[in-house]
Amino acid sequence: MRISQTTIDDVRRASDIVEIVSAHVKLKKRGKNYTGLCPFHTEKTPSFTVSAEKQMYHCFGCGKGGNVFTFVMDLEKVSFAEAVRSLAARAGIPIAEESPADAERQSELEGLYQACRIAGRIFHENLRETEEGKKALEYFKKRGFTDETIDLFGLGYSVNSWDALINRMKDEGVTPEQLMKTGLVRSRETGEGIYDYFRGRGMFPVFSTSGRVVGFGARKLWSDDPVQGKYINSPETPLYNKSRLLYGLFYSKDAIRQEDCALMVEGYADLISVFQAGVQNVVASSGTALTEEQLNLLGRYSKKIKLVYDADSAGSAATLRGVDLALAHDFDVEVVTLPQGEDPDSFVRTHGGAEFRERIGKAVSFIDFKAQEFLASGAFATPEGKTKAVRSIVQSIAKMKDELKRNFYLKDVSGKYDIYESVLHRELERWLSPVRRPGSAKGNFPNVEAESKTDGGNRPEVPASLSPAERDLIKALLEGDAELARYVSSNILPDDLTNDRAKSILRKIGESPRSGNPASETELLNELMSDEERQLISDIVLSKYELSEGWKNMEHEIDEPDPWQVAREAIRVLKRAVLQKKLDENQAGLKEAQKRGSEAMPFLRKQQELLQAMKKLEQGLSLPRE
Ligand SMILES: [Zn+2]
Repeated sequence: MRISQTTIDDVRRASDIVEIVSAHVKLKKRGKNYTGLCPFHTEKTPSFTVSAEKQMYHCFGCGKGGNVFTFVMDLEKVSFAEAVRSLAARAGIPIAEESPADAERQSELEGLYQACRIAGRIFHENLRETEEGKKALEYFKKRGFTDETIDLFGLGYSVNSWDALINRMKDEGVTPEQLMKTGLVRSRETGEGIYDYFRGRGMFPVFSTSGRVVGFGARKLWSDDPVQGKYINSPETPLYNKSRLLYGLFYSKDAIRQEDCALMVEGYADLISVFQAGVQNVVASSGTALTEEQLNLLGRYSKKIKLVYDADSAGSAATLRGVDLALAHDFDVEVVTLPQGEDPDSFVRTHGGAEFRERIGKAVSFIDFKAQEFLASGAFATPEGKTKAVRSIVQSIAKMKDELKRNFYLKDVSGKYDIYESVLHRELERWLSPVRRPGSAKGNFPNVEAESKTDGGNRPEVPASLSPAERDLIKALLEGDAELARYVSSNILPDDLTNDRAKSILRKIGESPRSGNPASETELLNELMSDEERQLISDIVLSKYELSEGWKNMEHEIDEPDPWQVAREAIRVLKRAVLQKKLDENQAGLKEAQKRGSEAMPFLRKQQELLQAMKKLEQGLSLPRE
């Protein structure tokens, strides 16, 4: 059941953040705020900051931040609703449920969960109790899975028939509509009716982090199986979203937290084999690049990942993309290499768990792995190869947020591969975004205009960093009132921004129904915002007020800058960057047209328009308050 907004607000008001945090963290008053040792990462000097005034917290070490609800969510690993319930119980506030429509949606989801659970049970029974299933069971046994493992992971078998599951589910009271929504059946292309999607396959139920069946992976068993693909998976459903799940996490989360490390393998069978061999801190990526959601999920348990892919896939584009994302999210990433031709599953089966552990112990940092790959391929032997290798390695290093860490890796690479450190540093500068960390970086930001000039297609894959103007704009929005929010929404579009997090925060602020009340950042920190957005907001709010260069250079100190003034200036800078970009594009179009001898007039007209707009912008935006 969903909890009503009024109840959520009541609970928030009744739960003082300092009091709640104090129950878990020893806090010391420092100035306006409180500090203590962060409960989310290991540290010796306190960087965890709590503000009674803002009712927020932010860790300047690991970046975690939020309000009283997210604190409970992160600490107790519970959902938003569970956090609200727990705080409500503490404050003695009765929980009021949401409207019937929401209740209905919730019960619809419950119905789907129920259907998936029943299907999982039926598949498992098929494996254990049918003639056809016995052959599938033999297959699993041949792979080395014990009875205990087969039961633990709920492995099963889908009978090779068009309607076996449909008929069984009908007996269980599951409707065809529900079946469609779980992705267990498909509708016929011609004519009416539905048919079983999984037929004659070994079934791996996929569990959510809280242990509910949400989908299935299905392995080909018979050589006459006409369906393409060794594995087929449930389609995306209201319950099953591949990019938000990690296979096996439900089983391995405790071990991951204990060992402070997650082994990452590719497939279902890899995971089960490794887990069965006693190495339990393991999750499977299901063969896709790691996503932001998966990293957020994993980050609750550990910020260390060891990739155990086979030799080929460890260097594949998808893996590399995922690793760079993990580095950018402050994960430590190491690579465990296996002998040529072996995957985790085969390795564990032939060499056993102890030897596998030994391999894990020999993991190398991802940076080293990349360097070794280049070395092995002979890239370092030619100047071109070396340039390419250095560039690729440095690109990964540039993803790291921590400057100390970056420097450490640069030194390390320089020493090991005999490359001048200064060369590496110069290359790094090219790939570093102008503002590395909004809270910790101090001053010296290149301004937005300079950034867009040097940006000339140089680094297409680095996501746009938060520019000083974007940071100022968000800060102003959080400090300002609803009127300011309306002013901002009507003067700049989210798409005029470049940083994705800033864009979506602006969009959400624009959409939030703040009916004339003074804006409160805590309102925005509830489930509206993603982890990432939340961290950015708490960072901006709890960092010492740091305006971008232009403000700092002013003659006199500005103690409490007027958010209106700040917002207006930020909008001006951002809009100017947008116009400049359009001008540049138009200029390029014009040149192209002249070269081809085609009509240049539209470009010239456009240029006039853009220059006009630029002039108007420089003359100042109209302010309702002036
Ligand atoms: Zn921390």
